[in-house]
Amino acid sequence: MNERPAVYGLVVAAGRSERFGADKLWLDLEGRPVWRWAFEALLFHPRVDGVGIVGSPDRLDEFARAAPEALFVVPGGDTRHRSVAAGLAAFHGRSGLLLVHDGARPFLSRELVDRVVEGVEREGAACPFLPITDTVKERGEGGVRTLDRSRLMTVQTPQGARLDLWRRAFAHERPEATDDIALLEELSVPIAWVPGDRRNIKITVREDYERALLLAGPAETRVGIGYDVHRFSERPDRELRLGGILIPDCPGLEGHSDADVVIHAVVDALLGAASMGDIGALFPDTDDRWKGASSLLFLREAGERLRASKWNIVSVDISVIAERPRIAPYRIPMITAMAEALSVAEDRIGVKATTNERLGAIGRSEGIAAFAVATIRRPSGGIIDGSLGSER
Ligand code: MG
Repeated sequence: MNERPAVYGLVVAAGRSERFGADKLWLDLEGRPVWRWAFEALLFHPRVDGVGIVGSPDRLDEFARAAPEALFVVPGGDTRHRSVAAGLAAFHGRSGLLLVHDGARPFLSRELVDRVVEGVEREGAACPFLPITDTVKERGEGGVRTLDRSRLMTVQTPQGARLDLWRRAFAHERPEATDDIALLEELSVPIAWVPGDRRNIKITVREDYERALLLAGPAETRVGIGYDVHRFSERPDRELRLGGILIPDCPGLEGHSDADVVIHAVVDALLGAASMGDIGALFPDTDDRWKGASSLLFLREAGERLRASKWNIVSVDISVIAERPRIAPYRIPMITAMAEALSVAEDRIGVKATTNERLGAIGRSEGIAAFAVATIRRPSGGIIDGSLGSER
């Protein structure tokens, strides 16, 4: 038995949304942009080995920041054909299967991906279709006539094929082509037509987005709390790091890692909200890998674990309790560093500081403490997991 071929995904998110009037791909659906839903559906599918993104050229940095897991982010062209061709070129040197998916179709179920992959493995190419339920009429010069809808179908994405077939199909410039699978049809490549999914809607006009908001919800929201305290070190070589930022002219804190008390509180709040244990269980201080480690690594890892379980970080609110140093000058750099590690917007993180009014150990400046509260949210999941069944 041969090994199963690699499966790649390509999210095409380079459109200019001319029919929508705003950039529909960046509209918010329960905390994530529309295209990120399409991206995650492929990314978290067990058969998919990697996903690339074709983004609009003027927002490439934003795509790269919002999808650090992507194989690549490349700029799209001025036509659908050029955009897909740009993505295809970025798979240079790879072989296997490629699923090309519209970034404007956020509700891609696991089952639909399965059907397309199975279809490609069987025939070399596959495309999901839907039978037409409305009556279809054609307006022509001779008046209006009713078409036989039993012979008609609509097609969706992801459309899949072996990479070598895609390369043949896109070998020549075809500015008018708006449907990728049509180019494979022209090559007389066998295509497996597999049942599509009516929830796999394409957001084209405002009403589609309103429907998508209904399909995405209701969301589950959770809150977690984290607390940590570290004592000041007597060792002159310990550096002070708070919120991922090196703070000069102040003694460092004792600890196994870099003792970043702020990040430790944030990680515990995030893990706590998601019922994923705590920082000690994830990064045990008995493990030499974490000796002196930057706590930003812990934060990044916690963020990835949450995302893998479809959690979005809504907000993280932090209070630092310290007699010294003064936190205010470092507030913004801390927010920037932590937002970057978590791949979230900076306005989702708050850092505040207070002294302990010289009360107790913190008040005697023996150490620094931090509290964090994290709010996370994820869609209820019935739709994108395909658990509601599908049309056959
Ligand atoms: Mg700690």
